[in-house]
Amino acid sequence: MVLTDLDGVVYRGRNAIPHAVEALTRASLTARVGYITNNASRRPSDVAEHLERYGLEVSPDDVVTSSQAGVRLLATLVPAGSTILVIGGIGLTSIVEQAGFTVTSSAEDAPAAVIQGFSPDLGWQQLAEASFALADPAVPWVATNMDWSIPVERGIAPGNGTLVAAVHQAVGRMPVVAGKPERPIFDAALARFGGERPLFIGDRLDTDIKGANDAGIPSVLVLTGIDKAKQVLAADERSRPTFVLEDLRGLSEPYPVTHRHDGDDGTRFVTVGDATVRMRAHVIRVERAGDDPMNLLRAGATAIWDSGLAIYGLDVDPQLYGGE
Ligand SMILES: [Mg+2]
Repeated sequence: MVLTDLDGVVYRGRNAIPHAVEALTRASLTARVGYITNNASRRPSDVAEHLERYGLEVSPDDVVTSSQAGVRLLATLVPAGSTILVIGGIGLTSIVEQAGFTVTSSAEDAPAAVIQGFSPDLGWQQLAEASFALADPAVPWVATNMDWSIPVERGIAPGNGTLVAAVHQAVGRMPVVAGKPERPIFDAALARFGGERPLFIGDRLDTDIKGANDAGIPSVLVLTGIDKAKQVLAADERSRPTFVLEDLRGLSEPYPVTHRHDGDDGTRFVTVGDATVRMRAHVIRVERAGDDPMNLLRAGATAIWDSGLAIYGLDVDPQLYGGE
């Protein structure tokens, strides 16, 4: 089972990321492929349709949204059929309704809970309704996700986390969160797809990889989106990927083995493929660059991660992250 993030892995802006469609199509021949998104504004059918435009074969059933994970979480907090104040768009209201809840947009209806997800149409009025309902501390509050920003056609715009923070400032408490890096969306995916030999692919250490680690799912970081070599080397203990790939072509290639060797003087050597780094105390240098910068990065990351030392205390060879 392959679970994959979308933005930065499958597409960026309007364009498919090179090799992603071919690699995921190939993976789908031997494994179930699930598409996981924190974006609560679109329905699974909208997401599937969008992905099909790039040439992928995707059914709505292959998509797990943070709205679905949020409603799953909601169902553990309030009785079935409760009235729910929904702060969000069609991607959220449709899922809340499908789960048998009654949707309201007014705090006057004494909702049993509030669920909040991103929609480009949200304004002060809706955030105020959430605040009024949440004045009662017994009313649970679920956020689909806490992404501070959202990439859109014209640039970076405030995301759901920013709108949740506005309500938080008014009510003085925080919601429970369903989307990455929190656990519910991973649990929703495992429950849907069966959970056999899962692998999670993402482009962000702080959401995709940290979330997969917390959920006990092996992870792949692809360098086609947000995080690059520098961030990999600096990744904190909870956000380190199992595998690092330049792009999704690597999904069907054998992953190189990492070899560690300790010298007599306390120098540690780490070799991946034909790349070797050496580390002594807080100094890490390239011993042999080899042919593939990815192997050099993997070796460097292993040396740094093994050391248990924080990145800001280290003297790192810039060649490891493609610097001068
Ligand atoms: Mg992403």
